[in-house]
Parts: sequence; structure tokens; C-alpha cells
Amino acid sequence: MNEKCWVLVGKQTKRRRAWVAKKRRRTVGSPTSVEADWRWVLAREESHGDVVGFFHTHPDGAGTRPSARDIRTMGAWSSALGKPLLCLIADGETVSGYVFANDESANDERADDESNWKAVKSIDEKTPRRYAIFE
Ligand SMILES: [Zn+2]
Repeated sequence: MNEKCWVLVGKQTKRRRAWVAKKRRRTVGSPTSVEADWRWVLAREESHGDVVGFFHTHPDGAGTRPSARDIRTMGAWSSALGKPLLCLIADGETVSGYVFANDESANDERADDESNWKAVKSIDEKTPRRYAIFE
């Protein structure tokens, strides 16, 4: 099974407690890696300004922790787009979320507790956030 990646487009809620996003522009990579369609991402951000992150799959059983490559890539994207980004990683039915922030503006208030919101950890695990994905 090859890894897949989607670009997440949507928005952060007003108080920046959560993301609401849709998966767009699927790309398929190799069994061990996948890249987003970076041209599409840059064009989308230029025209809509609504790229909020990326969703990608890992090989079955590989877990949902970000790889060293994921961390480098997400840091680069966050810097390129100038904002914190959501990184969702799926292994089978399990999805974990992480926030990669390029700034220190990530002060969070209490999280919402609606059941369809998934907890998200930032890579430094200091800034919990939530997300909802609509297909
Ligand atoms: Zn990965």
C-alpha cells in the first residue's frame, strides 16, 4: 500500500482553539513516503489563504508518530506559509494530529468537547488543539 497525502483546507475558529477542514488534492507516493502537491498548495494559499495543514497515511503498523522527515517537512511548510499547520497522520483507522507552529502565538484556551472533535497535540505537546475533518 502506497502512502497517500491530502492537503487540508479550511480555517481556524475565531479563538484559534480548533480547525475545521476538508481533505483536498490527494497525492499517492511510494510505500514509505509521500509528498503533497506543493505547486497546488502554494497556488491555493495564494488564491484562498485557507491551507491549514496536511493529512497523510503511514504504512500499516508503522504508527502515527511523525517521522524525522515529517518533522522537517512540516517545519518547512509552516515557515513557508507563515502560520502554524495541522499535521494529521493515519495508520489504518488510527489518526493522530500534531501542530507545527512557527511562532509563539499558540496560546490556547480550553478546548471544546464536542464528540466529533479530535484531540491534537503540538509537536512539543504544549499546545493542545482540536480538529474536525469533513470529507
Ligand atoms: Zn509521515
